[in-house]
Amino acid sequence: MTDQPHSSPAGSPFDDLAVTVQLAEPLAKHTWLGVGGVAQYFCEPVSAESLSAVVSRCNEMGIKLRVIGGGSNVLVPSDGIEAMVVRLSAPPFCGVEVDGQSVRVGAGAKLVHLVSAAVQVGLSGLEDLVGIPGTVGGGLVGNAAAHGCNLGQRVHSVTVMLPDGSTEDRLRDDIAFASSWSSLDGAIVLSARFDLDEDDPERLTKRMQKQWIVERSEQPSGTRSVAMMFKDPVGTTAESLIAQAGCRDLCIGGASIYPSCANYVVTEVGCPSSDVQELVEKVRGIVREKLGVELAPRIRVW
Ligand SMILES: Cc1cc2nc3c(=O)[nH]c(=O)nc-3n(C[C@H](O)[C@H](O)[C@H](O)COP(=O)(O)OP(=O)(O)OC[C@H]3O[C@@H](n4cnc5c(N)ncnc54)[C@H](O)[C@@H]3O)c2cc1C
Repeated sequence: MTDQPHSSPAGSPFDDLAVTVQLAEPLAKHTWLGVGGVAQYFCEPVSAESLSAVVSRCNEMGIKLRVIGGGSNVLVPSDGIEAMVVRLSAPPFCGVEVDGQSVRVGAGAKLVHLVSAAVQVGLSGLEDLVGIPGTVGGGLVGNAAAHGCNLGQRVHSVTVMLPDGSTEDRLRDDIAFASSWSSLDGAIVLSARFDLDEDDPERLTKRMQKQWIVERSEQPSGTRSVAMMFKDPVGTTAESLIAQAGCRDLCIGGASIYPSCANYVVTEVGCPSSDVQELVEKVRGIVREKLGVELAPRIRVW
């Protein structure tokens, strides 16, 4: 599969590259919340070479570049963003390869695919993360975590693309992982290698299925138009603080708290992004005022 040159609409700074670039791409369709405006430029490169051409062109021309993964942790402003938004959805960015006790995976692969591929061949260490939506790239940047396990724990190395379009391998010791954060933030993550432990596939499958059920029971059901608002503070959960502060029934315009999972915001069709932002700030303010705790937002506002 190759991109055809000159397939972008005329007038784009990417016209001479062999990459299809969309102008004014609505980002609502690429995010879970389903709200927000357009990206000035948007592309899904089909190879590392085409990605490299786009990245270095953005660098040369001072065009901001952002990568979108599964869009489960991003809030796009209603008036859109002036940037090139890249989505690593093509097969070369989504592969999962097992080699002994190591798994190499593309950043665009879904986290759930990584976990299930590992479990299938009897490799343990990631199964607690099975219910987390999104991609491996998004998970690495925000150090996705559940039930005491985080993605960074099992990283051997990560391959990133630099602004000049070249690639670099970063070893585990050169990367910092903390709660809902990693030093990969701001880089373009291409792929990663995880080192895992051998275990019985049948036992692992049962454990993964159990975790899946637990995680799903803690998430809103029946809608995808949701996002997790806050990180859990040390020793407690954002959900319990929001409930204690009496915020379960709050709503602003088309954005409301999902009552049975109070750390999630849910949006109605046509909801402006500002409703989500205002609701997050309102909840934060009430929790601060009533309980003296400063909640840190998890969702990233672009
Ligand atoms: C229902 C629900 C349940 C959730 N449960 C959990 C949970 O249990 N634990 C948890 O930790 N999180 C949870 N989250 C939050 C979210 O799913 C995670 O943060 C997830 O890892 C985000 O991945 P993504 O691919 O969707 O990233 P996106 O939302 O697409 O992007 C998030 C950030 O990562 C950057 N990014 C994405 N891919 C790349 C890349 N390849 N290179 C560089 N930067 C990149 C983006 O630019 C953006 O800044 C939940 C969210 C929802 C909606």
